[in-house]
Amino acid sequence: MAIETSCDDTSVALLEIQADNASGTDHQKLRTNVAYHERITANNTAYNGIHPLVALHSHQTSLGGLVADALAKNNGAKPTFVSATRGPGMRSNLTVGLSLAKGLALAWGVPLLGVHHMQAHALTPRLCSTLESLPDLYQGPWELATLQPSFPYLSVLASGGHTMLVKSTGLTDHQILATTNDIAIGDCIDKAARAILPADAMKPPYGKALEDFAFPNGPADYNYTAPTTRGEELTRRATNWDWSLGVPLAERGRRMAFSFSGLLTSIERLMRQKAQNENVVGTSVSIEERRDLARETLRVCFEHLASRILLYLEDTVGRGADKSALDTTNQTDTIVVSGGVASNRHLRHLLRAMLDARGFSHIKVAFPPPSLCTDNALMIAWAGMEMYTSGYQSTFDITPIRKWSMDQRAEDGGILGAAGWLHNGNMLPAVQKSQAITRS
Ligand code: AMP
Ligand code: ZN
Repeated sequence: MAIETSCDDTSVALLEIQADNASGTDHQKLRTNVAYHERITANNTAYNGIHPLVALHSHQTSLGGLVADALAKNNGAKPTFVSATRGPGMRSNLTVGLSLAKGLALAWGVPLLGVHHMQAHALTPRLCSTLESLPDLYQGPWELATLQPSFPYLSVLASGGHTMLVKSTGLTDHQILATTNDIAIGDCIDKAARAILPADAMKPPYGKALEDFAFPNGPADYNYTAPTTRGEELTRRATNWDWSLGVPLAERGRRMAFSFSGLLTSIERLMRQKAQNENVVGTSVSIEERRDLARETLRVCFEHLASRILLYLEDTVGRGADKSALDTTNQTDTIVVSGGVASNRHLRHLLRAMLDARGFSHIKVAFPPPSLCTDNALMIAWAGMEMYTSGYQSTFDITPIRKWSMDQRAEDGGILGAAGWLHNGNMLPAVQKSQAITRS
């Protein structure tokens, strides 16, 4: 059984191992089945983002009912162990799920697993490749068969709260290759959508609304040509209007980082100026101009995301057949893209086109189902299961962790740097101090 309460989604899952063909810790040979999986999202529509107290209230009112439903599905039988998200996330929200998980595990006399939320996101493609089916969740043309990432693989997490390029080489080894310097890509797209969309198209989720408005006929509207060189990628594209959008971090060379706040500021400023002109001269921003701005916004965001994947691949894998000078051990041929933004169909098209145009047609791109990309308890169940079957358990004195790197190279020691890990019954030394008494 697993519980997720790190942000605004309250989610509970029961994951069953159906057949265990795995030898040792070869989890890819497991077959799993979703016995129960539900999610309730706090209603934050009145706020410009997530209101912590609204999210907290939602966890407190929703969690008990979801656990009761899950137990009913399991005919009251106790699970083998209980997992809950320990961090990173909002501390009070994490406390709701972690405390209930402790209570359940203590009452049932089963192990407790305090799971790292970002590790769980990074391991999701491995979960997908073991699922027998996705009865309630499977929607759309995702090919689970293409999701067979054994370590190492690259994953891109593009959501409302994160923009990360991660290299996963083992269960607890996830190297952050690039992360955002400022806001997340989903946050940028949501806020840009609010500035760009006409009133009749303005409805949450705004990222989806922006995609639908930009490409009302879907792929038939794309007309996208990928830049064939980095120089071309860094050049502003002219439009039919009196504006063009700059490329984020263009002046910073090959720096492995993302940035979306400058782009958002220029879009918001542009639309504000147009609104002021409208008051003066009585013109309004036409649907055509708004549509072009929507398309350019998505193109610039997605090319920026792709640019850091390309920089990494160029430095490590090498283009096409030219791999002679490179260390080809420990390399990946799969990129997994997840997070809410990954459900954008134009992103799928653009990423493939950019990889092909720059000599990486041999690199596979896989997208897990959207319901498993956004926050969910199934990924917590899976991460807990991989940790548990690899010998890990949590002690019952663990506390929620607000900031917790997934990268063992970080100052806090990453996933295993937190206090409270047992491995094969032995206490692991902690790098980070308990966060129970530190200030937010
Ligand atoms: P998450 O944080 O993983 O729950 O994802 C939520 C984010 O994904 C929000 O910023 C949404 O606007 C964004 N999102 C959802 N659907 C789309 C879409 N079709 N295109 C772009 N962004 C999207
Ligand atoms: Zn998340």
